[in-house]
Amino acid sequence: MRSFLRGLLAAVAMVLPAAAAAQGAGGAKQAAHGKTEVTWWGHAAFLIRTPGGTVLAVDPWLSNPKSPDKELAGKLDKVDWILVTHGHFDHVGDAVAIARKTGAKLISSFDLGKALVAEGFPKEQAGFDSQGNVGGEIQAGDATVFIVPAVHSSDVAGDAGARPGGTPVGFVIRIAGGPTLYHTGDTDVFGDMRLIPERYGAVDLMLACIGGHFTMDPKGAALAAGYVQAKAVVPMHYGTFAVLPGTPKELEAALKGRSRVVNLEPGKPATF
Ligand SMILES: [Zn+2]
Repeated sequence: MRSFLRGLLAAVAMVLPAAAAAQGAGGAKQAAHGKTEVTWWGHAAFLIRTPGGTVLAVDPWLSNPKSPDKELAGKLDKVDWILVTHGHFDHVGDAVAIARKTGAKLISSFDLGKALVAEGFPKEQAGFDSQGNVGGEIQAGDATVFIVPAVHSSDVAGDAGARPGGTPVGFVIRIAGGPTLYHTGDTDVFGDMRLIPERYGAVDLMLACIGGHFTMDPKGAALAAGYVQAKAVVPMHYGTFAVLPGTPKELEAALKGRSRVVNLEPGKPATF
């Protein structure tokens, strides 16, 4: 846990002004006292550290255009689990490099796991214990990860051409002594999102794509937040490219106060 924090803080200090580094240190201090630390690195990439010290990397394209540290993947000392929602490059991202460096296990659909192993993900870190499919539940330290549907596509474009990446998914992440998060993956809003709070309990923090074009837009995301009864929404998957025009402001307007919008700045940890 400490080495991860050191790496994270060093990375933050390198690229952000002193004020940002100080905020990171404050976040780390709180996390040590039972808080969950969530850092958005731009696009759909998140690093999550649980109160028990488990580190999850979700859709870890840490070198995306909005990331303040394009070299972060090579600096991470501790990642326990890598969660990948589907096979597109902007979600697989630096998963293989992180896995090789940290020994982290892959949580994904079984089909995507097969495709990523073919693309160089260490096979022994993508076994039956961490691979699943929609409806499945994976224990990841003090976090329980539920694999839930998403409406999208999932080819893996590798060196040898496109490989089928199975069905795209989202993740509900229930953290012991902490919040329940819902990372939507790439998806449009769909009616069965209503089942998520019924099946997995209240969603404290919804990490929701809002860019439009390839996924739901802010209006769709606001509808989705209502379906899952999200207490708070972190907008993501917007602004990385010109074709992802949705904005947090539009999300806020569409939500009309029904859920709180939490705007995270890439690279700055927030605690929940
Ligand atoms: Zn995407």
